[in-house]
Amino acid sequence: SDTSRQELLERAKEQGVAFVNLQFTDILGMVKTVTIPVEELPDALDHGVWFDGSSIEGFARMVESDMYLVPDLSTYSLIPWDQHAGLATARLICNIYTPDGSPFAGDPRHVLTTVLGQAAEMGYGFNVAPELEFFLFHRDGAAQTNPLPHDNAGYFDVSTDQATLIRRQMVRALRSMGIVTEAAHHEVAAGQHEIDLRVTEAVRAADHTVTARVALKAIAQINGLYATFMPKPLATVNGNGMHIHQSLVDVATGQNLFSDPDDPYGLSKIARHFIAGLLAHARGMCVILAPLVNSYKRLVPGFEAPVYISWGRTNRSALVRVPRITNGRYQSTRIELRCPDPSCNPYLAYAVMLAAGLDGIKRKLPLREAAEEDLFHIDPRARGLAMLPSSLGAALDALREDEVIQAAIGPNVYERFVDAKQLEWESYRSYVSQWELERYLSIF
Ligand code: GLN
Ligand code: MG
Ligand code: MG
Ligand code: MG
Repeated sequence: SDTSRQELLERAKEQGVAFVNLQFTDILGMVKTVTIPVEELPDALDHGVWFDGSSIEGFARMVESDMYLVPDLSTYSLIPWDQHAGLATARLICNIYTPDGSPFAGDPRHVLTTVLGQAAEMGYGFNVAPELEFFLFHRDGAAQTNPLPHDNAGYFDVSTDQATLIRRQMVRALRSMGIVTEAAHHEVAAGQHEIDLRVTEAVRAADHTVTARVALKAIAQINGLYATFMPKPLATVNGNGMHIHQSLVDVATGQNLFSDPDDPYGLSKIARHFIAGLLAHARGMCVILAPLVNSYKRLVPGFEAPVYISWGRTNRSALVRVPRITNGRYQSTRIELRCPDPSCNPYLAYAVMLAAGLDGIKRKLPLREAAEEDLFHIDPRARGLAMLPSSLGAALDALREDEVIQAAIGPNVYERFVDAKQLEWESYRSYVSQWELERYLSIF
């Protein structure tokens, strides 16, 4: 509206903003930005900003190259780690449009908005809270190929090293950008940390997720370290997951629709169908949630990451976990999906999770019994539990068979995503690694 436009311009002036970064995300989840001097901001707000989309990964071929960015005023924020005297910079997250004025089908934010629209028609809003895991490594030059953890601490350890300071800087910086952290702690592996974001509406949550990834990397860098969200940088220790807590709410009242205090798991019928949908589409959506060759080295037994398609209360090997609700806080009833990792595109990830859950509700899919034992120590196949795909190639094949997930991301994103990931998979498949040379060269 006019007032918020005016307010925003006044705020930028008060804050001495000299530049504004217009931010969007490509199909693969890379944050992109174009910087405008603040003098151009009024025009950008009124008419959008033209850019050439032809060189953006995943955008090419879909449209002729001209596209324009339309800032979402509600995303305005100063960039706290980039405040050099006279060069203060703010950022705005943008929606992408084509020259005829329609939303660009390849814009991941638009993909999420579209699935949210379908949920709203059924009466649902979708709330999301991600847990961001990452490593802090020593810097080893521009290429950064040597993962050297900066500490020797473990899960929830109290330490006095530099990382506790950096983590607090990260939490403050996020807060100043309107991103609320619930908790932060040292994770299981040496050099590994976690920051848990507060639950919020899904588009906002995806905005927060991409922003947090950029923020954490920048703050690590300022402190002389390197933050990585690579899913499995070290073969012998835990990888980086991005567990996603999710719930449906009444779109009008905000009331939690997953809660039923009388159910043994505290779950409503809607929640049970939603979980059944997540399980039914777990294989098909896996490549969106865990999109790298390296993602599948995290999804192996023994490192608190899921392998089997199951659900349960306490079980850390389960794909979907149902956190216990205490002190009558039924409004916070939610389920946690544990296969996503922080290399995913959160807009697409939240879109496919929601589509999978909604499909479970529409088809009234029954939820099988919970599996409460540690699945790493029984034979899950004897229990008839299916497995997540074991490689990027297998995950791509699973997506090719899942029409619900294909429809959720739309034909344009589907085609470009699969093309890019198939190339990545083939490049890896034909690469001869050090492991193979050491294992085979002298013997055969
Ligand atoms: N790092 C584990 C994963 O890959 C999770 C560990 C935990 O949060 N307890 O998902
Ligand atoms: Mg956690
Ligand atoms: Mg964790
Ligand atoms: Mg968790």
